[in-house]
Amino acid sequence: MKTELCDCCGGTAQVVRRNYQLTDMGIPVELQRIKVIECPACGNVDPIVPNLDGLMHVLALAVLCNPCKLNGEEVRFLRKYVNKSAVEFARFLHLDHTHLSKIENNRLEIGNRTDKLVRLMVVNMDPKLEDGIKRLMELMPNITDNCAEEKQEIQIDPATGEYQYT
Ligand SMILES: [Zn+2]
Repeated sequence: MKTELCDCCGGTAQVVRRNYQLTDMGIPVELQRIKVIECPACGNVDPIVPNLDGLMHVLALAVLCNPCKLNGEEVRFLRKYVNKSAVEFARFLHLDHTHLSKIENNRLEIGNRTDKLVRLMVVNMDPKLEDGIKRLMELMPNITDNCAEEKQEIQIDPATGEYQYT
């Protein structure tokens, strides 16, 4: 088995290939079969995330094409993806930024049309998302506007760039 030195304690850590839940994206994401450095001595677990830029792109597409209305975490993820402050983003949407902040914190449900406007804006703000426009347009009439239950996890295979919802 391949080993590496642990970043945390300097001990010998094992490199294993497994699914890994990303916790720092703000939305539930599981990467499929990536290399993970696991240290048996101190318990440190360090994922080796390949091609982070490409991964963010796939993730943005997955959120944009979510068949259910966006929740607060997803709106925040998309806003950050296009590098907009809450004030700037709210201005595009013609919303008060405190209103946007309530949406992002799930204290207020996003309006059905605001949901669509957010998606259309974001898909047009990043030229790399151009391939998502057609898919989003096909999906648009069929987005479910009342999704009460928890959002599903997005599973991404970084090797193929494919994603699915669990
Ligand atoms: Zn360690």
